[in-house]
Amino acid sequence: MTFTQITTTCPYCSTGCSLNLMVENGKVIGTAPYYRSPVNEGRLCQKGTYCHQFISNPDRLKKPLLRKGDIFYETDWDAALDFIAKKLSSYKPDELALLTSARCSNEDNYLAMKFARGVLKTRHIDHCARLCHSATMVGLFLAFGCNAMTNSIPDISESDCILCLGSNTLEQHPLVGRQIIKARSRGAHVITADPRFTPTAVQSDLFIQFYSGSDVLLLNSIMGEIIRNNWHDESFITERTSHFEAVKKVVLQRRYNPEIAGDLCGVSPDLIRKTAEWIGKADKCTILYAMGITQQTTGIDNVKSIANLMMLTGNIGRPGTGVNALRGQNNVQGACDVGCLPNLFPGYKPVTDGTAHRKLSKLWGFPDGICEPHEGYDINIMFEHLRSASPDIKAMYLIGENPVVSEPNPAIIIDGLKKLDFLVVQDIFFTETCQYADVVLPAACFAEKDGTQTNTERRVQRIRKAVDPPGESKSDYEIITALASKMGYGEQFKYTSVKDIFEEMCSVIPQYQGMTWDKIDKPGGVCWPCEELDQPGTPILYSEHFAHPDGKGVFYPVEWKEPSDLPDKNFPFRLTTGRLIWHMQSGTMTRRCKNLNDEVHEGYLEINPEDAKRLKIRNEDLITVSFRKGSLVCKARVIQDIKVGTAFIPLHFIERVTANLALNSSEPLPYISEYKVAAISIKKFQVE
Ligand code: SF4
Repeated sequence: MTFTQITTTCPYCSTGCSLNLMVENGKVIGTAPYYRSPVNEGRLCQKGTYCHQFISNPDRLKKPLLRKGDIFYETDWDAALDFIAKKLSSYKPDELALLTSARCSNEDNYLAMKFARGVLKTRHIDHCARLCHSATMVGLFLAFGCNAMTNSIPDISESDCILCLGSNTLEQHPLVGRQIIKARSRGAHVITADPRFTPTAVQSDLFIQFYSGSDVLLLNSIMGEIIRNNWHDESFITERTSHFEAVKKVVLQRRYNPEIAGDLCGVSPDLIRKTAEWIGKADKCTILYAMGITQQTTGIDNVKSIANLMMLTGNIGRPGTGVNALRGQNNVQGACDVGCLPNLFPGYKPVTDGTAHRKLSKLWGFPDGICEPHEGYDINIMFEHLRSASPDIKAMYLIGENPVVSEPNPAIIIDGLKKLDFLVVQDIFFTETCQYADVVLPAACFAEKDGTQTNTERRVQRIRKAVDPPGESKSDYEIITALASKMGYGEQFKYTSVKDIFEEMCSVIPQYQGMTWDKIDKPGGVCWPCEELDQPGTPILYSEHFAHPDGKGVFYPVEWKEPSDLPDKNFPFRLTTGRLIWHMQSGTMTRRCKNLNDEVHEGYLEINPEDAKRLKIRNEDLITVSFRKGSLVCKARVIQDIKVGTAFIPLHFIERVTANLALNSSEPLPYISEYKVAAISIKKFQVE
């Protein structure tokens, strides 16, 4: 019998906890604590603890599959890749689109991006960050000149006042939540604003149970109160920021007085005043936010408003302060850093930047050049185009993406996939999207490959191979390399190890340029920016200046806008959505972990007892939930924790598919979908 432990990084949320995989006779049989990571210090949440269970699930894909009519049959790699190479070569660059995944490593994503732009020469590349934090990318970039979380995770415990807004941190990022508890035990004030009394609210000193969609209203009201009481940081505002007067004028309007705003938010004005006082008087205050802020039609405004509050109070650039955007998936940050976006090259260089385009072309050395220096389509535009009678996108390559379940409006996604002339899906399981594919390629999971991933605090850390992938499945970067070679670009994809890919990747991302494999190999990795070899990394951004050319942070005045789908007499409830501690996104992995699935295995709708009594609905009753554009049937969970007039559905189950029919809308810039506010009606299910 052989037994070993391999240290790696959790594949689920963006906290990026380190853990040991216990390997017995070539099989991962469990996880064990790894104490040397500053992120989680040996602790794991329930998801991390059971993350080994999906690795050897019998459903794992083991051989490439080719479609013949309605049937998939197994084939070998040579045949599958020959077929794909021939098909992809038959399209014009703009007829091709590629989606990568924040579940994959930096190296997988970097090579997928290079393959799209260098081999396929297409501009149309995107990934699932569109779904969660595209509002952060725009909002924080406008305010600070860079779109990442400003401080580090351990740093949160140094705060004197923590505002959790649009983040159920204790459930969604439990090991970030631990830092909140540490800060509170030191005497910090913790404030949670949420329509539900969540586990995060339980750990708070102040709970603001407001209506989803009223974030800007609440934030403007808090800022107005801070200014009226002279709690703002005038020297920080004067020396380090611009355009403050415009924000001051907006937040001091009468509509943002605590009485008026409190009434519209559904909270007492005293709660707003107390929040303003705690934030305004704190020496070190931080805001933690997640998809509760970004997955709204007003996502960018919400993010700008959060940035305004932290600049107003001088809470940027010091330990225990900052705007801490908690990303969703394990490697959302990394997939963005390496340029898996239709408008940005690695290191956030615009694709329209001629110098960046020339530099990349030269480094990669494709004899026939790379894609045109114009922005491509994001995933939403790709599928919008696929709705037309004669779509310009003809073929798609999906790596680790399951848009049939994860994207809004599944009907549009399915219709688009059916219209494609050719679809390749590369994944670890036969997902809902695979059934529309022409070829399905079996990929290795996190425990079966080497590489790096970048967590929410910009920390680049190692993932390490513990076991061989099942059957004939291969790591994503091996598949891409083999396919590039089949398509005549073997020379441009000549790597002897993952380390080679990592080094090339670092050379094109300015923020990664001072990183080496040895540095990353150490516990805790390195937080970017790390631009020089002798630099240890940068856990806290903007200590001296912001990332804008003039070094100043920019205030943006933001007026509150009502959500687009508000309750009325036919649809009297306000639906919001969120995540559970037991599951991750569409549940492809967590729903295949027995211990997690045993906890919660189906969706439900939470409703307040007062509302339930009026509707004669009891706990566990089957109910019909109707939206303006569809309906679903699920069980009711009658629970005091949800605000009267509000309802909640967890996002991990099939019920979300129909729910999304109602929730789609968009902001002009990042095109993020509305997941947080939809008007619904609820009634007891009756067989028609
Ligand atoms: Fe994994 Fe996130 Fe849990 Fe850490 S907090 S163990 S990264 S799911």
